[in-house]
Amino acid sequence: MKYKMMAMMLTLSLLSVSCDKSGGSSSEESTESTTTVTGDTGPDTGNGTTDSGSGPGGTTTVPPPTSTVPQLALSLGGNITLYSFTTAQTEKYNDAVAIVKKVVATEEFRSRVLNYTYSGAKQFANNNGRTNAQVYQSILDAAETLKPAKNNIIDIGVKLYYEANSVVGWTNGSITYINVNTKFFNSFDANEVAGNLFHEWLHKLGYGHDSAATAKRPYSVPYAIGYMIRDIGSDFL
Ligand SMILES: [Zn+2]
Repeated sequence: MKYKMMAMMLTLSLLSVSCDKSGGSSSEESTESTTTVTGDTGPDTGNGTTDSGSGPGGTTTVPPPTSTVPQLALSLGGNITLYSFTTAQTEKYNDAVAIVKKVVATEEFRSRVLNYTYSGAKQFANNNGRTNAQVYQSILDAAETLKPAKNNIIDIGVKLYYEANSVVGWTNGSITYINVNTKFFNSFDANEVAGNLFHEWLHKLGYGHDSAATAKRPYSVPYAIGYMIRDIGSDFL
């Protein structure tokens, strides 16, 4: 049932953005999540690596004098633990994390988030009551629900698995990691992986979206901004 539901959730954007259940409020979702996590007993060998990025202050990018990109957008760090990754998979994921950082540091990303419109107003769907500026700031703060310090660092784990279905990846509100299906990951370009990572990470910041493939769902914070990361990220391949 889980897969059936998730397959439905993914219909709109099969190869672009993974989905999840981190709307996380219904008990049904919680039950399913628990079941899935329990089943995740793969070779969790913990060859965890973190990307080479450092935390705040870890970049040396200096904005031009006219830039309106805040310093926190230039210094976003990544503390990302990879589980059960091969060397090649690790390289791809590190490339994706680097793309995320580059995109967030751009004026284009800032502008697209701040000026995003849904339903005739400057807003995202499923924005947790936040303005676009507040959504943007929450990204820079990087305070995950389960790791609530505003540390300007993406704190997340990534576990690979394989399932012959249409689920690109998933997470839920009770775990600090995301699950990524190698069926898609292995053929994704790094910017697509970046978009997926960011979509899932936005769930970690507390943003949700419709579980069904509604007309509104692409305008939710996770989908809309995940697409931005993917699309702007193609410039950094
Ligand atoms: Zn999602």
